[in-house]
Amino acid sequence: MDGVVILGGGQGGFQAAASLRQEGYAGPVRLVSDEPGLPYQRPPLSKAYLKDGDAARLALRPEAFFAASAIELVHDRATALLRETREVALASGAVLAYDHLILAPGARNARPPLPGLDAPGVLGLRTLADAQALRAALPATVEDGARAVVIGGGFIGLEFAAVARAFGCAVTVVEAAPRLMARAVSPETSARFRGKHESLGVDLALGVPVAEVLTDAAGRACGVGLADGREIPAGLVLLAAGVRPNVELAQAAGLEVADGIAADAQLLTSDPAISALGDACSFPDPRTGARVRLESVQAATDHARAVARRLAGRPEPYAALPWFWSDQADWKLQIAGLPPRGESAADVHDLPRGGFAVRRWEGDALVCVETVNAPAEHMAARRLLAAGGVSRVALAAQEGSLARLAKSG
Ligand SMILES: Cc1cc2nc3c(=O)[nH]c(=O)nc-3n(C[C@H](O)[C@H](O)[C@H](O)COP(=O)(O)OP(=O)(O)OC[C@H]3O[C@@H](n4cnc5c(N)ncnc54)[C@H](O)[C@@H]3O)c2cc1C
Repeated sequence: MDGVVILGGGQGGFQAAASLRQEGYAGPVRLVSDEPGLPYQRPPLSKAYLKDGDAARLALRPEAFFAASAIELVHDRATALLRETREVALASGAVLAYDHLILAPGARNARPPLPGLDAPGVLGLRTLADAQALRAALPATVEDGARAVVIGGGFIGLEFAAVARAFGCAVTVVEAAPRLMARAVSPETSARFRGKHESLGVDLALGVPVAEVLTDAAGRACGVGLADGREIPAGLVLLAAGVRPNVELAQAAGLEVADGIAADAQLLTSDPAISALGDACSFPDPRTGARVRLESVQAATDHARAVARRLAGRPEPYAALPWFWSDQADWKLQIAGLPPRGESAADVHDLPRGGFAVRRWEGDALVCVETVNAPAEHMAARRLLAAGGVSRVALAAQEGSLARLAKSG
């Protein structure tokens, strides 16, 4: 028996290995990781880790867990999928045979074609190594009285900006779209976060793309030039302009790719001996049937659990409700559901116990709830959306309270 090989030892790959054991899978489980050390969580890299530098807290499980669970960690890089012989070729020259292969290679930072982007002083934030470099660069930037410029006003760029301000660093966030986190949140939530970041002292340049990274005589990044001609000097440039799924190995092996590695409602790829999960895969949204690719801990871990259950002999279609969080200064943003498609309405509620909620509708159906510092409202929204949704009439009958509606069910 060759067992299961998992390509990628990140959030989803690790969870697949752990869940296989929890589900009683008894065959060999090998987890191939091209990053050093134990599998770790990425979310703190742009939050607590930047502040405390405590890498030990990032590990998803201690080393002893892997031995005790008979999960073999293979530190190597997969270089080819040999589907005919059901093998994975590794950079070391070794070959791993599998009965089933789980593709969990995640995503990498998108690199827009900007002059100067490869210069020293331009950093990314995807891996622990990236976060270590950023953590080392930040105090020096503050000491020099220099500015940090962030390319991209999405979650990671804004989380970094809030931490950098807490270090006393001058920060400018440049975002090509006219509003912050435009892909993921409503205009109403964007507007409130704009106010929050301005109150923290973050300078925002919205609706204008970065045209180039400026370099000094030594070839080091020293700022950015914007498409409108403005130049912003900086001691540190963070590239946070989104990610691209790692689909190349799957594509080269002839698997179907559609934004990510294409998976079906069971998270199987076009090869029934191969599953895909996490940031790297696209799959049919159980609520709309539309193909989606999500970049979240929730998707990676719920995908992994669903794949493990199937491999342990208990298949069921993937049905989990998407949810997400982001911490920016003292604001915890939580999102339940996916943004509405097409024309939609949203209403904003300042909640009696603090925080606010933005409810997003598709016609008469509630599809997404964004909350800030309102965990009870978030949990109520998750419960209701997972149970099949909420209509305006049902909510009105509970005087607009999601919490009451959730309790009444
Ligand atoms: C800074 C940061 C902050 C985040 N904050 C949040 C948050 O607040 N909330 C949230 O829900 N999500 C957050 N995320 C997203 C979340 O971490 C990801 O969605 C999640 O890690 C995806 O899991 P994954 O297993 O698909 O990919 P990953 O965790 O990226 O793991 C993929 C692994 O596969 C490895 N790999 C790739 N190719 C190969 C190969 N050929 N051979 C061997 N190994 C390979 C990669 O090096 C990597 O280790 C954040 C991400 C980052 C980077």
